[in-house]
Amino acid sequence: MGRADRPVDEGCLFCRIIAGALPCARVYEDEHVLAFLDINPMAPGHTLVVLRGHYPTLLDVPPGEAGHLFTALKIVTVALRAELRLEGFHCLQNNFSAAGQTVFHAHWHLIPRTAHDGLALWAGRPYADGDQMRRLAESLSSRIAGGLSGGTHEW
Ligand code: 5GP
Ligand code: ZN
Repeated sequence: MGRADRPVDEGCLFCRIIAGALPCARVYEDEHVLAFLDINPMAPGHTLVVLRGHYPTLLDVPPGEAGHLFTALKIVTVALRAELRLEGFHCLQNNFSAAGQTVFHAHWHLIPRTAHDGLALWAGRPYADGDQMRRLAESLSSRIAGGLSGGTHEW
């Protein structure tokens, strides 16, 4: 997507950072993507990777942007790994308030990990039984096979 037809929201914090109206600790940028350090990191090096276009959530991101995003995620991760001697990392993305999204310009969190850093991001909660799990997978897959009513952008 070219500069001219990229969506922008002038009230959006990340659009203002992308436009250079607000400062950021820039790590990487190209024509499609900007990456900068999170101001309130879960670990040093916690980086936010954003598309330059204003897409509020993952569901709004045009599939054609995915390759640019993916390439940037890998570039930044390799740099973080070399710089901070990472042993692992999270690539996380929150969508909608119920999932903890606070900035409604889709962004990907790269969070450095080492084996003994003490971060505990989530704990699994098992299904009641194998049947419940199998039934849910079957319902989802037949819903997808039947065609999603509003398309993949609908919430
Ligand atoms: P979310 O909760 O929406 O997934 O993540 C928003 C992230 O943006 C948070 O981790 C928060 O620390 C970060 N953030 C919020 N405001 C700013 C800012 O002005 N600059 C930077 N660099 N990060 C910010
Ligand atoms: Zn925006």
